[in-house]
Amino acid sequence: MTTSASACLPEYHEWEDYLGAKDDKSIYLRKCGAEARNLHFGKRVFVRGVIELSNYCRENCSYCGMRRDNRTLSRFRLQRDRIVQMIECGLPPSITDLNLQTGEDPRVIEEVVLPVVQYLRTHTTLGISLCLGTLDSSVLNSLRSAGAFYYILKLETGDEDHYADMSAPGTYKERMGAIYSLVSSGWKVSSGMILGLPRQTSKMAVETLRLLTQLPLSGVSVSPFISGDETPFAGKSSPEASSVIHALALLRLANPQRIIPAVSALSLLGNDAYGEALEAGANLVTINLTPAKERDNYLLYKRKRFIVDDKKVRDVLHKADLEPSQTSMAEHFHP
Ligand code: SF4
Repeated sequence: MTTSASACLPEYHEWEDYLGAKDDKSIYLRKCGAEARNLHFGKRVFVRGVIELSNYCRENCSYCGMRRDNRTLSRFRLQRDRIVQMIECGLPPSITDLNLQTGEDPRVIEEVVLPVVQYLRTHTTLGISLCLGTLDSSVLNSLRSAGAFYYILKLETGDEDHYADMSAPGTYKERMGAIYSLVSSGWKVSSGMILGLPRQTSKMAVETLRLLTQLPLSGVSVSPFISGDETPFAGKSSPEASSVIHALALLRLANPQRIIPAVSALSLLGNDAYGEALEAGANLVTINLTPAKERDNYLLYKRKRFIVDDKKVRDVLHKADLEPSQTSMAEHFHP
């Protein structure tokens, strides 16, 4: 293997082949991804907590169990005091950043998210990430002024017609505009895609990966499509775990400096797939802190989610010969 990780980056016209790589080619790509991560971040992996605050959603994405047409779902909103109490009771010591995540639920922003961000900024040194969907710029400015710095807004597919076909939020152009607008107003922005979505061709998948490499992002993710029982895509098949790992390695090689998570959904495709993401270049793991009762109704795909806890993180990092970063993502970007 070459010692220059960037020299491993295949030409774009080869990416489709690399997604389905086998044997030596697969091993080579994964090693290159890990090497690129190690060159930029060493053996250190960011450990973030996530609290899922609300599963109300005004959107109707075909691939998501929290879509507004799912009338069978019990909806919840966590309250500020409960979240503060959780934080005051103590978080796993490896956590340096906290992500607050919701469906598209404008009501929860002022009532809960903003007060929690203000509490975190006043009482902790945690970096604050948000994943709240499309919001007005005035609301985003309030959250940024309160201390949040990182915003996750997924694209899911980089094909305009496919985006509309998936009933994803707004239009494709609006989503792209929202990503650029976040970046230009000072947020560090992460986006990402779902690999294996129904009606996604391999050409579309590669074009989406390519688009993600070209956007002005600080982070990027690739998640496998997992069919939700309570969605129009119930029963549709998932991609091979290896193709998701290969996509992650390609994203790492194309943009070695980005934050790239190992996503928990990978574990539904194979016992080792979550750890394999770390062995192919991921540098972020997320511990789920949502209370168990509400967590069961945070239905991004199936009820049977794979929940990453503190022990799982320690085990998987140890196995991959990696260690938790002592530096938060916030300090990494704003030293
Ligand atoms: S993916 Fe997000 S915006 Fe779409 S339905 Fe699910 S929670 Fe709502």
